[in-house]
Amino acid sequence: MIGDFQLPRFPMVKKWYTCPHCGKNLLIYDNTAKCCGIYIRCRQCKRTVEVRI
Ligand SMILES: [Zn+2]
Repeated sequence: MIGDFQLPRFPMVKKWYTCPHCGKNLLIYDNTAKCCGIYIRCRQCKRTVEVRI
């Protein structure tokens, strides 16, 4: 058997996406994530932040 199938090419790294205005942690993403057109409202400073990963 060849055991290399499903081996990730790079390790998955999870990071916090933080609010650019106040620095509060908004959501967790990993380094395979790609999104655009996603908006989240920061609970701390009440601003709507576009999530760009
Ligand atoms: Zn904020």
